[in-house]
Amino acid sequence: AKAAGRRQWCHYRPALQAGLVERHELNENLDSAIAESAFQLYYQPIVDLHTGDLVAFEALVRWPHDRRGMVLPDEFIALAEESGQIVPLGAWVLERAAEEAAAWHAASSAARAAAGRPPLRVNVNVSARQFRDAGFVDVVRHALDSSGIDPSTLVLELTESVLMRRDDRLRTDMATLGDLGIGLAIDDFGTGYSSLSYLREFPISLLKIDKSFIDGLGLSPQQHALVEGITRIADTLGVQVIAEGIEHPDQRDLLAAMGCPLGQGYLFARPMDGPRAQALVRRATYE
Ligand code: C2E
Ligand code: CA
Ligand code: CA
Ligand code: CA
Repeated sequence: AKAAGRRQWCHYRPALQAGLVERHELNENLDSAIAESAFQLYYQPIVDLHTGDLVAFEALVRWPHDRRGMVLPDEFIALAEESGQIVPLGAWVLERAAEEAAAWHAASSAARAAAGRPPLRVNVNVSARQFRDAGFVDVVRHALDSSGIDPSTLVLELTESVLMRRDDRLRTDMATLGDLGIGLAIDDFGTGYSSLSYLREFPISLLKIDKSFIDGLGLSPQQHALVEGITRIADTLGVQVIAEGIEHPDQRDLLAAMGCPLGQGYLFARPMDGPRAQALVRRATYE
């Protein structure tokens, strides 16, 4: 028994140490990656479910790493939030996404306007820690000024963890951002401390229904009723719904039939790099 216990101890300790070393290493790498702007943005289309028209891209950060390959955000965003590194990283994401949107607009806005279509929007994820930082509103202003994009083409995706605080700072910041003319979206709706009252308390213009609800469409009548109900209430309040994680044509058809205006998912396109997004903008404009 003693030998077995010992073996177990020997087995666990190195694993734990490796975890800590790896974490420390990732943190240090994150620092230099932030300093060198070594990140990359990918863009995933958001489409009009009735016409198939491209209406926006969501910017999704990637970290090309020498040894690890393309590191996905689930592996470093939480770490960057804990350490506060999300503040400079998030500022970089906002600036870069706004610059990229300016390039899409240069390539497509005139032709889209002639066809009665608004300019393409860019959706940017903002974490709670980043939103709470005192300089956040100025970072948004700066991204708008330096890129020159129309504020109505920038959408910030906020999770419910940002909105649950409900203090004066939050109210003031949300009002200021709303007054800038940018769009504000609730991300992953239905997974957190969901409350439809956020929709009337804050200047929210979009609501993204989490993939877990879309997965159940056509399988669970309850899930179906829930998505349909949320869509109807949002519509009444002038809030546009985006269904996330659409993978099957049936899901798209059910969503379109219940009046959900917008969708995103592998069915339409996976996240793509900047040049591919730019090529898609041109194709979607002149096709
Ligand atoms: P999210 O904001 O919910 O973004 C959607 C995620 O679902 C993306 O993963 C996207 O690639 C994936 N996805 C889209 N369509 C489908 C589909 O049809 N099926 C499946 N299985 N997945 C789909 P990604 O790029 O790995 O990002 C993961 C999360 O990391 C994001 O979830 C977001 O919370 C966070 N994130 C990404 N970029 C940023 C950023 O710049 N800043 C912050 N704060 N968070 C970010
Ligand atoms: Ca998002
Ligand atoms: Ca989401
Ligand atoms: Ca999600």
